[in-house]
Amino acid sequence: MYMQIVTARQEMATLTTKLKAQGKTIGFVPTMGFLHEGHVSLVRKARAENDVVVVSIFVNPAQFGPTEDFAQYPRDFEHDKVLLEGDVDYLFHPSVEEMYRGKEHVTFQIKELTECLCGISRPHHFPGVALVVAKFFQLIQPDATYFGQKDFQQTVVVKHLIEELFFKTRLVVCPIVREVDGLALSSRNIYLKEEERAQAVILWQALRVAESMLQQGEKRADLIIQKMKEVIESKPLARIDYVDMREAASLKKIDMVTDQMVVVAVAAYLGKTRLIDNILFTSV
Ligand code: AMP
Repeated sequence: MYMQIVTARQEMATLTTKLKAQGKTIGFVPTMGFLHEGHVSLVRKARAENDVVVVSIFVNPAQFGPTEDFAQYPRDFEHDKVLLEGDVDYLFHPSVEEMYRGKEHVTFQIKELTECLCGISRPHHFPGVALVVAKFFQLIQPDATYFGQKDFQQTVVVKHLIEELFFKTRLVVCPIVREVDGLALSSRNIYLKEEERAQAVILWQALRVAESMLQQGEKRADLIIQKMKEVIESKPLARIDYVDMREAASLKKIDMVTDQMVVVAVAAYLGKTRLIDNILFTSV
């Protein structure tokens, strides 16, 4: 299949309007590039469920804080193209100027959902995500949009964005793809020095400990969180940002596990690199 690269937003909008008029369904996978098997799993799912697949590669400045890694964020467009070829119809790769006019007046404020987890240490992040995702929805008009569970809080924010702004897209959340040892694939893993990479698997190991406590019937969130912190702190290069357990749908804090689905989430620095991971657990 020939993959067309589109850089102009007007061209993207014209193309998708035409495709919709032809009755084609559009599956959309937003990414920041430097693609790996996690991204590819979303693309495959989109391919299986839609007539047309659009992938965006755009490192979105609005979702990075002033001291974060926007400039250094890894980019390898040639390699990304090779990974997508065959599964993707349109690769949307706009410049920052194409997506932003320079001085923006409109921002999103996302209440409650971002007053926890990654929203605490990254206050710019989710408003920036919501802004660019809303822009993409306008241009691409996707029938279905594919996100990874890896960024669980992002999926909750996008779900609300879709519902509250009446976007007509179906949100599909895909499972986390991992390395053989369990480390969640991430474009940022490239930053890890050898010893940091070796110790990074502790996030997954802590989540596995939580999962087995939950499976054995432990319901007290504070005990599970405490145990996870001990596991992570056993690695000298790991520094915890947060370890938390929340109701998955609402991200409300829980003291005790109920029959609602729970997300157990962790963020930690390995050296300078911040990694996140999570599991979902339901007792029924
Ligand atoms: P990013 O390029 O990091 O913005 O990620 C683009 C999309 O890929 C997001 O929906 C992520 O949640 C998803 N993603 C990233 N890593 C993984 C992974 N290891 N498994 C599944 N999805 C992932």
